[in-house]
Amino acid sequence: MKYIIVTGGVMSGLGKGITAASIGRILKNKGFSVTAIKIDPYINIDAGTMSPYQHGEVFVLKDGGEVDLDLGNYERFLDIELTREHNITTGKVYQTVIEKERRGDYLGKTVQIIPHITNEIKERIRKVAAKTGADICIIEVGGTVGDIESMPFLEAVRQMHSEEKEEDVAFVHVTLVPLDTQGEQKTKPTQHSVKELRSLGLQPDAIVARCKEPVLDDTKSKIALFCDVPARAVVSAHDARDIYYVPTLMEKEGLSDYLMEKLKLTPKSESHEWDDLMNKMAAIDKEIRVGVVGKYAHLGDSYISINEALKHAGIECRCRIKIDWIDAEEFERKPETIDTLQKYNGILVPGGFGVRGTEGKILAIKYAREHNVPYLGLCLGMQLAVIEFARNVVGLKDANSSELAKTEYPVIDLLPEQENVKDMGGSMRLGNYEADLIDGSIASRIYGCLTLVERHRHRYEVNPKYISQIEAKGLKFTGKNDHRMEIAELPGHKFFFSSQFHPEFRSRPGKPSPPFLAFVKAALG
Ligand code: GLN
Repeated sequence: MKYIIVTGGVMSGLGKGITAASIGRILKNKGFSVTAIKIDPYINIDAGTMSPYQHGEVFVLKDGGEVDLDLGNYERFLDIELTREHNITTGKVYQTVIEKERRGDYLGKTVQIIPHITNEIKERIRKVAAKTGADICIIEVGGTVGDIESMPFLEAVRQMHSEEKEEDVAFVHVTLVPLDTQGEQKTKPTQHSVKELRSLGLQPDAIVARCKEPVLDDTKSKIALFCDVPARAVVSAHDARDIYYVPTLMEKEGLSDYLMEKLKLTPKSESHEWDDLMNKMAAIDKEIRVGVVGKYAHLGDSYISINEALKHAGIECRCRIKIDWIDAEEFERKPETIDTLQKYNGILVPGGFGVRGTEGKILAIKYAREHNVPYLGLCLGMQLAVIEFARNVVGLKDANSSELAKTEYPVIDLLPEQENVKDMGGSMRLGNYEADLIDGSIASRIYGCLTLVERHRHRYEVNPKYISQIEAKGLKFTGKNDHRMEIAELPGHKFFFSSQFHPEFRSRPGKPSPPFLAFVKAALG
C-alpha cells in the first residue's frame, strides 16, 4: 500500500480536499486504484449532528455514514464508493480507546495519547486502506498544521512514515502564496508553515501552493530552497474556473510523475476519461437558470452535492447551469414575490430539517406545479410536494408533516420504528435502499430499470393512510420500498419528479444522476 498524506498550512479553506481528490484522480488516470481517508480532528463521532451552518453539507455514504463533505469530493473525483470508516474523527478514536480501556485490554497500563491513541489511528488507517485493496490511499488530515486537535494525527502519520518503507509514504503540504499590495507573490507564510510541520518531524515531499495566479518559477525556487524540496515538487495550484480543472492543472505541473517517482510506481495504463470530461466542459454552449429554494441560501457549501449533480447533468447536455440560491423565507414574508420564479427554467427544493422556510418552499412547489415549470424535489422536497398537493388539490386543508406542525392530516408522518429513538446519531433511515419502480412511470423511464438503489437520510415518510386519496387526484407514487413511498411524480406535467432519497450523492462527473439529467433536459425544453 502506498500512502499519500495531505496536510495543510497557513489557513483553512484553501481547498485541501479538492487537492487531495485531484492528486487521487491524476494517479487513477495512470491506472492505479485509489482510495481516500479523511481525518477530522473534531470530537464529534460523525458529521450527522453538525449544522450545515458550521460545516457545510453532511454527505451520506452507501452504508449510511454521515460524513464530511470532502468524502463527497473523493467519491466524485475518483468515482468510488466509500464507507464510514473512511472518515476518522477524534471522537471515533477516543471512543474505541476508552471502550478498550474499560474492557481491560490495556492490561493495567496508563493509557496515553502516545502510544495508545496514535496506535489506534494507525491501525484504523491501515485497516481501512487494506480492506479496499487499492494501490494508493490518500489521507487528508483536516485542519491546519499547528492546531492542537490535529497533533495526535500528525504524530501518528509521522510514526507511519518511519514504520513503512521510504518509497511507500509521500507527504504533500498545501499552503497559500498570497499577493502583496504590489502584486508580488509572497512565500513567507509557506516557509513558516513548513517550519511548523518540520518541528513535528514531518518533511513534505511536495508543496502545493494555492495562489490567485500561476505561481512564478522564481517563487517556486524560493519555496524549494527554504523548504528543502526540489523545485519541480512545488506545484502551482492557482485559481481554476472549475474544480474539475484542478487535476488537469496538477498533471500539467508534473505532480503525478513526481509522486510516482517518489513512490517508485510505474504507470499501469493511461486513461483519457478525464480529458474527455474537460472537452465536454469546453463545449458548453447553452445556459439555463435553476432556482434552488432552500434554507441556507447564502451558503453554497450546504448544498455542494446538489450543485455538483446539476453541473454533471449540465455537462452532459453541453449546458451551463446558473443556480440562484433562494431563501424560502422570502416567500413567506412576501408571498407576492413568488412570481419572481418565472425567470427560472427549473425549480428545485432540496432536503432539510425543521419548519423554517417550509411554507415558502410549499409556495414555490405550488408555483412549479401550476405553471408547468420543471420541478425536482429531494427528500424534504418530496414531502413538501406531497403536502402541497394534499392541501391544494386533494383539499385536505391543513395537511402537513408531523415533523413540522400539529395537524389533522399528517400526510407525512414518523417512521414507526423511529418513534422512541433518543440517540441523535443513527436515528434516521440512512444510506442505500432499493426502490421498485412502476413500469411506464417517469421514474422507470429516466432510470432505465425497474429497481434502483439510492442513498437516504430521513426520519419521516409518506403516511400510507392517504396514498389512495392522493393518487386518485393525480400525484403518483411510482417508486416503493415495501410500504414506503420513495418517489412521487406528476404525469402530464412538463417534469414533476420528487424522491424520498437523495440522488445527488451518487452523481458523478461523466455519469450524471438520472433525475438530475431528466430535470436539466426538461428545463432545456
Ligand atoms: N426532515 C425530513 C425527514 O426527516 C426530510 C429529511 C431530508 O430532507 N433529508 O424525513
